[in-house]
Amino acid sequence: MPNQLYIDGQWVKPVKGGHIDVIDPATEEVFDTIAAATAEDVDLAVKAARRAFDKGGWPQLTGAKRAAYLRALADGIRARQGAIARLEVLDNGKPFPEADWDIADAAGCFDYYAGLAEQMDQNTGEEIALSDGRFTSKAVKEPVGVAGAIVPWNYPLLMASWKVAPALAAGCTVVLKPSEVTSLTALELAAIAHDAKLPAGVLNIVTGLGGEAGQAIIEHPDVDKLAFTGSGAVGSKIMATAARDIKRVSLELGGKSPFVVFDDADIDQAVEWIMFGIFWNQGQVCSATSRVLVQQGIYDKLLKRLVEETKKITIGSGLQDGVLLGPLVSKRQYDQVRGAISAAVQAGATIACGGERPSGFHKGYYIQPTVLTNVSVESAAWREEIFGPVVCVRSFETEKEAVELANDSRFGLAAAVMSKDDERAERVAAAFRAGIVWINCSQPTFTEAPWGGYKQSGIGRELGRWGLENYLETKQITRFASDEPWGWYIKS
Ligand code: NAD
Repeated sequence: MPNQLYIDGQWVKPVKGGHIDVIDPATEEVFDTIAAATAEDVDLAVKAARRAFDKGGWPQLTGAKRAAYLRALADGIRARQGAIARLEVLDNGKPFPEADWDIADAAGCFDYYAGLAEQMDQNTGEEIALSDGRFTSKAVKEPVGVAGAIVPWNYPLLMASWKVAPALAAGCTVVLKPSEVTSLTALELAAIAHDAKLPAGVLNIVTGLGGEAGQAIIEHPDVDKLAFTGSGAVGSKIMATAARDIKRVSLELGGKSPFVVFDDADIDQAVEWIMFGIFWNQGQVCSATSRVLVQQGIYDKLLKRLVEETKKITIGSGLQDGVLLGPLVSKRQYDQVRGAISAAVQAGATIACGGERPSGFHKGYYIQPTVLTNVSVESAAWREEIFGPVVCVRSFETEKEAVELANDSRFGLAAAVMSKDDERAERVAAAFRAGIVWINCSQPTFTEAPWGGYKQSGIGRELGRWGLENYLETKQITRFASDEPWGWYIKS
């Protein structure tokens, strides 16, 4: 639906009629436009979500009925999987097989939360043992209300699904704002919801700028809960804004995740996972393992293999067969990554490979996969998220030193360790101050397992049963169950 928003079960033009160009990062050409919602449109969307929650009966449906809608959304996504994946490539730039994987995962996420919604019907509350036997008590879970979901551009439909699926399963209604850079697949989700006859107002999708449409969502007094994935700067603003109305907040923010490789590791396996940890999705991954720490004994050998393999990566449009690295998502991101590489070099880092625009590419936001060495632990390249295909590699001598270097960060999203010594791997995994820890791999993500960060990488957890909890309130129901009167004021 060109230049339209999905509000209250209908496609509508934005009140002020604005639009935003959609650019293909592989060609830098405008190939579509989307509506630019303003506060007026957001108000209509929130009111629709409010009505659907307060009067539309969505929270009162059985979990099984909500699950049927979620499964219809999963089926709808799968039925159009190839076309949606292609759209994701045009919008985001990632190689098609990665986009295809994302879209399959998005469908799987709806199926998974359908299962949890069904289980909610069996859960009539948790009995609580009280110290006073005259009372009985139970704790029940209820949906938190209207959820405002704001997502970034790196996994457009998948990040939306991580929020929409558990929110709907819990019985919440949703206003979703995709990133202005990659909104097309969220609009596909609206079309799928429409075909599935999801009741009006249960899922509203507004496209628009962060500072305008996004800001209107976070400020809206009728939004009960904000679920955000994106940068720390915006996350901090969201928390501050949410404080006014004591809105519930969950935040999935950035990271600068370490990958520690001990000298008993298989070098080829280590190189494979290091590359998967930083070049997948052009390194535009919140959990990317962008700081690699290699034990002295294998440092030279591993670095040589890493550079050899990195130079072999096929760069090109995400729609071309065999491409492993597409363009970055936008001009802004391209400038930011190039700027970060220049700053790293100025601060004393050495480019072991990459660092440039690949030759032969005159259009598109392409950048070579880059390995940096001699990176000072004080430098921005080591401490700040670059969010591109740039990995910093350092050596270490002892386990203690590796853990200290790994944890020396304001972030704590993910961390990885590679070693054939299981006890050591477990010890290091326990010592990492991060919400997601991988042993002998980096990045595999499962809908069933909790996802989220320590420290400045966020608050709360998505995915698994924890993702459902994000959208639930806990209510205690306590009953006076004694035959004896209470007798405080009225004495018998
Ligand atoms: P961003 O913070 O610029 O934007 C994210 C979303 O917030 C977009 O939809 C944007 O329009 C919106 N937004 C911007 N300003 C807003 C405002 N004032 N009020 C409300 N909404 C506003 O982030 P980005 O550049 O899209 O994404 C990259 C960042 O996201 C990286 O820092 C990355 O680490 C993080 N990220 C984290 C995870 C995770 O799970 N932890 C996953 C993906 C991305």
